Amino acid sequence: MESDRPYLGMSGIGHPCLRKHWHDFRWCSEQAWEAATLYRFDDGHRSEDIMAERLRLVDGIELRTLDPATGRQIGFSDHGGHFRGHADGIVRGLRQAPRAPHIWEHKCVNEAKFRKLIKLIEERGEKRALDAWDNTYYVQGQLYMHYSGLKRHYLTCATPGTRDVTSVRTNYSSDAAWTHIERAGRVIQAGTPPERVSDDSSFWLCKWCHHAELCHGDRVARVNCRTCLHSTPVTDGRQDGTWRCEKLRRDLPVEVQRKSGCDQRPCPHHRFISQLVPFAEVQDASAEDNWVEYRNKSDDRLFANGSGDLQHTSLDIQRGGKLITDEWLAEVKKPLADASSTSARSQHNLSIPWSDAANAGTSWLTQLGQDQASDNAK
Ligand code: SF4
Ligand code: SF4
Repeated sequence: MESDRPYLGMSGIGHPCLRKHWHDFRWCSEQAWEAATLYRFDDGHRSEDIMAERLRLVDGIELRTLDPATGRQIGFSDHGGHFRGHADGIVRGLRQAPRAPHIWEHKCVNEAKFRKLIKLIEERGEKRALDAWDNTYYVQGQLYMHYSGLKRHYLTCATPGTRDVTSVRTNYSSDAAWTHIERAGRVIQAGTPPERVSDDSSFWLCKWCHHAELCHGDRVARVNCRTCLHSTPVTDGRQDGTWRCEKLRRDLPVEVQRKSGCDQRPCPHHRFISQLVPFAEVQDASAEDNWVEYRNKSDDRLFANGSGDLQHTSLDIQRGGKLITDEWLAEVKKPLADASSTSARSQHNLSIPWSDAANAGTSWLTQLGQDQASDNAK
């Protein structure tokens, strides 16, 4: 599984669902890739290298794939460094416009999609084909032109194995670029999930979306700094993609965000952004004591996201889901819970057997490590 991207990508912002972008940016859901998908990614990377080699063989073509100032990919950044993209290259010397430098992007697609592009070029002409073919690629190209200051884009497209190749040039559109820069800003600045592309879980984009169970169902988001109501992406005066914890009043390096901060897993101060607990509704909250009370929509019982004896950590809620208030489960597991803690049980049946409350003051991983160490001694 790939690590979550620390930034919102220019390559994907053309996707129509703002909520998907927000969920991605906030690392809300695991994404497991099938092997076939990983092979396709790999084929795409190889195809890009092959295409770059072929372009360089053409007389008069000059292709740069690295930024000479940094020796790294040609990159662009905005919104405090939270919105980023990396172009495949800049090409000059094309037969159609020999002096004009173009942003170069390469895509490797299946045969059907390849044929569709050929048809659109025939029907609409080269300059209007990309927009009609794939809006996400079109927007990506517009943003790279915008941030580089170049006015032309050159997309090469190949079938798997780079056997068949075509190309399409596109002009810069300031309107298209600004529309999506503004959309990216809305995603980054939003403290709660933006609107869905559809309220119908059977809508085709939702059926393919890895956030669907969180968005349309009962699955709780993952526990990390970005799903915590105390975190904020900093956009004023900095360009390094900084996140800040308002609870601990400190900046959060990416690795700390992944560990949910505080050098503990999970951070004891984590409290969910309430919309990321979809099976419940907020009833009350205390900023001073750092707890949020919810009503479970499935049984009307109350429970709290907090760190006191009578409250649930975020990890409890993430693992327990809507069973967090289930009386029967709590009763069945009661002997285990009692063995772990002598503290009074909650009026809301707050303690479940895998609750970290039983290990108050000790992180879950630390406890696991202690259990393993004691087993190893046997
Ligand atoms: S499930 Fe649908 S509405 Fe929800 S984030 Fe995904 S695409 Fe958007
Ligand atoms: S309270 Fe903990 S989990 Fe929340 S943002 Fe701060 S460090 Fe991260």
